[in-house]
Amino acid sequence: MLKKQNIDWDSLGFGVYPTRSMWTSSSNSNGDWKNGKLIPYGNIEISPASGVLNYGQGIFEGMKAHHSAKDRGVLFRPDMNAKRISRSCKRLCMPEIPEDYFMNAILEVARDNIDFIPPYSKGGLYIRPVVWGTAPTLGVAPASEYTFMIYTAPVGPYFKDGIKPLNLIASQSYHRAAPKGIGNAKAIGNYSSTLLPVKEAKAAGFDEVLYLKADNEKLVEEVGSANIFMLRGEQLVTPRLTGSILDGVTRDSVLKLAQDKLGLEIKEEDLLLEDLFKSDEVFCTGTAVVITPVGCITYNNKPYKIKDGKMGPVASEIRRLLVSIQLEEEEDTFGWIHSI
Ligand SMILES: *Cc1c(COP(=O)(O)O)cnc(C)c1O
Repeated sequence: MLKKQNIDWDSLGFGVYPTRSMWTSSSNSNGDWKNGKLIPYGNIEISPASGVLNYGQGIFEGMKAHHSAKDRGVLFRPDMNAKRISRSCKRLCMPEIPEDYFMNAILEVARDNIDFIPPYSKGGLYIRPVVWGTAPTLGVAPASEYTFMIYTAPVGPYFKDGIKPLNLIASQSYHRAAPKGIGNAKAIGNYSSTLLPVKEAKAAGFDEVLYLKADNEKLVEEVGSANIFMLRGEQLVTPRLTGSILDGVTRDSVLKLAQDKLGLEIKEEDLLLEDLFKSDEVFCTGTAVVITPVGCITYNNKPYKIKDGKMGPVASEIRRLLVSIQLEEEEDTFGWIHSI
């Protein structure tokens, strides 16, 4: 039996929640990571001239630990996050983090906060690694000192009242990422630029924004912090990774499950917005949302309902497969599960 904090697990949403400890370490610009250790969860001190506060030199990751059906704490494909964090660091001119160093840090913080993992099927412990430029830099330049920190927060299901198909607006006013920019890095600046579009979309009654490609607005890119998929007959299509799309771990997992377990033909290609309107199913994927159906997309003030607006059978089945692997209810034939 895993020990548990005295938390009202059923009322957990998706938000910040203080836990026991967080991981910290620092490096010079050469990637000489040192002083790695757990410290009590809490506020930190930082120079007002730090690279992260002034020039957005920062990136993050996101993953979840679950209390599985085998009564143990598990991670889902943490090696993918390890590889991606280094790619993101490289793009932001920050030192890369060796995969084994990353894994050790994740395991230390997950083990120390294991009693904050919600009970089986009540949610997960969200793990948030962040890397930023710490040293003061008045001119625009890479910082000379970096911090790698990991904090955690117990989270409930992303949608409290069960899965409800999303009502999206395909934005004609904003883009998420520029071609040849930093869209394929989990860079903090990519998310500040989406705050206003999402605020406006919510005020107009939508759940989220569907972003179109900056260099061809006929093509779709992704949804805020989730990738998008379309089912067309026996074909499952998702936009190809052209550099402005974040390569989600969930995206990759869905492609593999669809091909290997459901026998669907998978396609990574340019995805036309107008093809979504007449598709059989549309859904989005990510660590936070898992797999969430899209019920309606509004473009040019016109709402286009996807089929009957309900969650389709393929999205349901892929979601069931994915969650049952993540919770060790089903055999992990891909070797995706990593015990804490
Ligand atoms: C994190 C993220 C995703 C989803 O990635 P996962 O690894 O599946 O969680 C998709 N799009 C964006 C922009 C993201 O930041």
